[in-house]
Amino acid sequence: MADDNDNTCDHPACSCPTTDDQDYCSAYCENAEDTAEIACDCGHPNCS
Ligand SMILES: [Zn+2]
Ligand SMILES: [Zn+2]
Repeated sequence: MADDNDNTCDHPACSCPTTDDQDYCSAYCENAEDTAEIACDCGHPNCS
């Protein structure tokens, strides 16, 4: 699965970049972790 140190969002449907101390790119993705979402709605332009 995801590399812990790759600096991308841990949301399975999201590939947005994060900073070193963040697991998720946004609060949306952090809150969505427990939901089996097939699409990300974080609002970042490179992310559908
Ligand atoms: Zn996203
Ligand atoms: Zn994200």
